[in-house]
Amino acid sequence: MSVPPRVALVTGSSSGIGAAIARALHADGWRVALNGHRDADAGAALAAALPGATYVDADVSAPDDARRLVRETVDAHGRLDAVVNNAGIARRIPHDDLDAVDDAFWDLVMAVNLKGPWNVARAARPHLAAARGQIVMTGSIAGFTAAGSSIPYSVSKAGVLHLTRLLARALGPEIRVNAIAPGYIETPLTREWQPLREHVVAHAPARRLGVPEDVAGAVVGLMGMEYVTGAVLPVDGGLSLL
Ligand code: NAP
Repeated sequence: MSVPPRVALVTGSSSGIGAAIARALHADGWRVALNGHRDADAGAALAAALPGATYVDADVSAPDDARRLVRETVDAHGRLDAVVNNAGIARRIPHDDLDAVDDAFWDLVMAVNLKGPWNVARAARPHLAAARGQIVMTGSIAGFTAAGSSIPYSVSKAGVLHLTRLLARALGPEIRVNAIAPGYIETPLTREWQPLREHVVAHAPARRLGVPEDVAGAVVGLMGMEYVTGAVLPVDGGLSLL
């Protein structure tokens, strides 16, 4: 009897890091469920390029949408073995310009980056527990250094890293929960951040920009580490050491 393929839901996989994670998991033999919200065409196009993949347009910050995302994934694939909580937003705002941070941005960045992973984790829990599965969060080194694109973004990512530890403790032994913490990765989100790009190439120990495939490889590796839970893996070419 053939073993059914494991199924991974990757949120925010219509672009950048999430798209690379979806491709890498597919190449590793997973069946992937893709998600995005603002650009449904991009997500649907990637799903069409990965045999067996599906795409669901859903806003992870909305609990009802998160539940529908998980339900449609399980309906399509029959099981759920892993969630990669990757969807996120950012905006460049200098940390000392407090007046440039409006309330709407605070609310949005917390809703998408922090509440989103919570919403999807809660909806996915019974399916992941049944499969003895796992969750991987896309955090950021901004979650543990006094840096990042803006103060609200960095606070949201600090929350993601702590959520990782809290859920790892609460959901074991059935579900493992880990996080990756990217540094500067070249994606549509960061392409214009010129001074930071130059700083990374000049000073980070790896002396180059990160690419989405660097993060995707780390996620696939982390997912295979059966005795690791509650861990945060920086994928930053050493940037957080500066
Ligand atoms: P990106 O290219 O802009 O991709 C972001 C993804 O999130 C897109 O697929 C987007 O889909 C999706 N998304 C945004 N809001 C969503 C929502 N409300 N519901 C569902 N999906 C939503 O950015 P990226 O650089 O790959 O970032 C991916 C993750 O890595 C984020 O969590 C980011 O904070 C984190 N990160 C990135 C870096 C970096 O240097 N790039 C560093 C550290 C951490 P739509 O456009 O279709 O909505």
